[in-house]
Amino acid sequence: MIDYRLIPRQATAAQADVLRRVDLACQELRPIEDRYYLERRVNSEVAPLFARHGVLGFMIPQEFGGLGMDVPLYVWGMERVGQEGTGPRTFFSCHISIGASVIAYWGNSEQQQRYLPDAASGKRVFGFGLTEPDAGSNPAEMQTRFEKTSAGYVLNGQKKWIGNAAEGGTLVTFARDPQTNKISAFLMDTNTPGYQADIIPHKLGMPTAGTCLVTYTNCEVPRANLLGEEGHGLKIAYTALMGGRLGVASGSVGIIADCLHESLTYARSRQQFGKPIGRHQLVQRHLGRMAVKLESTRALVAAAALRKSEYDADRTNKALRLETDLLIAQTKYLAVNAAQEAAHDAIQIFGGNGFLLTNRPARHYADARACQIYEGTNEILEQKIAVGYLGPEYEAFSG
Ligand SMILES: Cc1cc2nc3c(=O)[nH]c(=O)nc-3n(C[C@H](O)[C@H](O)[C@H](O)COP(=O)(O)OP(=O)(O)OC[C@H]3O[C@@H](n4cnc5c(N)ncnc54)[C@H](O)[C@@H]3O)c2cc1C
Repeated sequence: MIDYRLIPRQATAAQADVLRRVDLACQELRPIEDRYYLERRVNSEVAPLFARHGVLGFMIPQEFGGLGMDVPLYVWGMERVGQEGTGPRTFFSCHISIGASVIAYWGNSEQQQRYLPDAASGKRVFGFGLTEPDAGSNPAEMQTRFEKTSAGYVLNGQKKWIGNAAEGGTLVTFARDPQTNKISAFLMDTNTPGYQADIIPHKLGMPTAGTCLVTYTNCEVPRANLLGEEGHGLKIAYTALMGGRLGVASGSVGIIADCLHESLTYARSRQQFGKPIGRHQLVQRHLGRMAVKLESTRALVAAAALRKSEYDADRTNKALRLETDLLIAQTKYLAVNAAQEAAHDAIQIFGGNGFLLTNRPARHYADARACQIYEGTNEILEQKIAVGYLGPEYEAFSG
């Protein structure tokens, strides 16, 4: 029998200790998340709860109050959070993977000192504002623009589908210089005058994650909030998406683990034709396929995590960057689709009860759909992967 809260065998004592604390936070989160999900409300308790357990700061360096998780530990942590639901895992993706980690990676030491302790303590929530109403798969088509002033920059435009944008914090965001046409990255505090975030209603899934339409109207961003060098915005965005996609893949492994756990429990207890449905061979086929998906996605996530660690230690190595980016794209693609299939099969095992949002498979099924869209749609990743093997001259689109 599998333990779905498994601490990986290869974890060191220190890593196992962190994962136990993440696990405790996840156990405490479960009934809270259940309530918010069924009420279809944004769960605002994730950050304070994980902060109380001292495990909000995932990959934030320890000198700034974070856990300083290395990449293998990060993916295990994200898998565990993913078991609780894609809503809370998406909170972590926005706050850490494509939020605070980007500042840790690209920010200067003043920006790191100013923002990272607040990210680790939960005083400030982070997000990533790249997508726009008319620029999704190709961020290079973004319309949000900035003008330079004596004090810094003024941003105007709109960003769509942005997580953690309403909670009071900071977005890593992007805008174009109409003079040079180049895109730069900025740190946009959500209390900036002219900043407005409106929750997007009626989502298919992930009701507990706040997803916003954000409008910048003459938002003044001080020069100190330029992230990296002017004109390096897309490089920063695409680098951030490597860590982001690995997090989505890990969370998807968590979905599969939870679907398998729920399905095993149900298959043992539900009786039809005078025996537990787990004794029917076609039900066993669903379980077997789910278990194979769990182990295979976990293995690829672990391999991609190691490759990412190597790249993080050797950032100027362009060949390694391409290899890492490609492996992570493959990992995300495999894991999100496997998670969707696992949730589909878990619903089938639950029969009519699978159709209820009060049971976990139905929620995973609705939520996992977002993972096939954000941080690179299936189609964009399929092409990216093919071109990774064919060669850049086969590039079908820019970016
Ligand atoms: C729940 C949710 C949360 C999100 N959170 C964030 C966030 O926090 N921050 C953020 O910046 N963004 C976020 N996004 C946005 C997400 O990254 C985009 O929705 C995604 O990149 C696709 O962009 P789009 O919606 O504009 O679709 P489009 O780009 O309009 O694509 C529509 C369809 O056309 C296909 N397509 C487009 N171009 C090609 C091509 N060249 N070849 C083949 N097919 C193509 C796509 O694959 C897709 O199937 C989120 C989205 C969702 C749904």
